[in-house]
Amino acid sequence: MTIQPESLVPDIARDLDVSAALLRMHLLSKSLYAVESSGFSFLRFRQPCGKVEEGTVVFETPTGGVEYMRGFPKIRRVYDIGAGLRKHFPTPFYVEEKMDGYNVRCALVGGRFAAVTKGGLVCPYTTENLRHVVESGFFHDHPSLMLCGEVVGLANPYQTKSYPRARDFGFFVFDARDRVSGKPLPPEKRYRIVKEYGLKGVRVLGKSKSSDSRKLLSLVRKIGEDEREGIVIKSLDGCMQAKYTSNQSTNSDLRYAFRFPFDYAQAFFFRRLVREAFQAHELGLKGAALKREAARLGESLLIPLVQTIRDVSEGREVVEEFELLVPSREFAANFVEHLRHLGVKASMRSVKREGRRFRAKVARHYQSTNDKTRSYLEGEFGGE
Ligand code: ATP
Ligand code: MG
Repeated sequence: MTIQPESLVPDIARDLDVSAALLRMHLLSKSLYAVESSGFSFLRFRQPCGKVEEGTVVFETPTGGVEYMRGFPKIRRVYDIGAGLRKHFPTPFYVEEKMDGYNVRCALVGGRFAAVTKGGLVCPYTTENLRHVVESGFFHDHPSLMLCGEVVGLANPYQTKSYPRARDFGFFVFDARDRVSGKPLPPEKRYRIVKEYGLKGVRVLGKSKSSDSRKLLSLVRKIGEDEREGIVIKSLDGCMQAKYTSNQSTNSDLRYAFRFPFDYAQAFFFRRLVREAFQAHELGLKGAALKREAARLGESLLIPLVQTIRDVSEGREVVEEFELLVPSREFAANFVEHLRHLGVKASMRSVKREGRRFRAKVARHYQSTNDKTRSYLEGEFGGE
């Protein structure tokens, strides 16, 4: 069954409150297009379209109907937490831990469970590993909602970081939204529901107000020392959110990305340097304390870069390795193929049985970093 996007335009325009003409324009430019993947037929919004967020998915159900999963909205970042909270949060708010994994929305569509990544693609690996969420009965009782959460842990293809509560793979709910309108449940109601269904949620750090920003700033530093990322601030109705992260966590992003410097956009690095400077300023770091902060930042840049140059100079390819926990060897091979379709250069290193499942080791190849580093080592001229 191949989806006929054109025929769905009137329904989508009505349900998502966006003009049919705009939808047609997006279809023409291919920023809205049909995907057949993992047994689902859907339309994917690769870019925002009017009020419709990027990553929104329109599923065609086997009976010919449509079902929606609105995209997860962008969360704006405050650089100066004191000023940011005063400006945007005049009334009390909730503070939650910001976990560092990848964003997943999941729901039952046409009776089948689907887990979708931020960009709006069904991920077969995540869908397989989250089946227990269906067993909680949540979707049975709340069919119009989708659960939004962070997948963290070492056994995943997108962002590998272990947490004490989830070494390999864990799903932590941070939102529950109406699938069609995208409207969130108020956080307090969500906290109750998450417990009620025996699901795991992100840590709730309490209710706060903008005049507490100094306390929140030191809380974020503590979170950072614990190798965690930061916080997300949410208004009591859940409609307004903002994020703020620790310099320690920014350093760990940098340490990671500077292993593959030519595969990241330069803006990635610059934005992080600016974040760190604002945090150092707001903390009032001076003298020895500022030097210590600078030394940590410098180490996060230079050490991985030098390591990459050394590896290439000694003839080793610089790769990222990650693991997957899969139900069969075939599933692992298919998933690596799926990643290749997404443009990720991945290859299987090994697959070993582990209890009732298999643990697959996968390598991700970073072509630009390897090529460019090698060419500089061979004496080629660089830009400027
Ligand atoms: P964007 O700028 O579009 O929000 P990004 O990839 O730059 O995306 P991040 O800097 O990681 O995103 O911050 C936003 C993401 O943080 C959310 O999309 C979500 O996946 C994740 N997240 C982790 N914990 C929470 C939480 N408690 N509440 C909301 N989002 C959270
Ligand atoms: Mg993130």
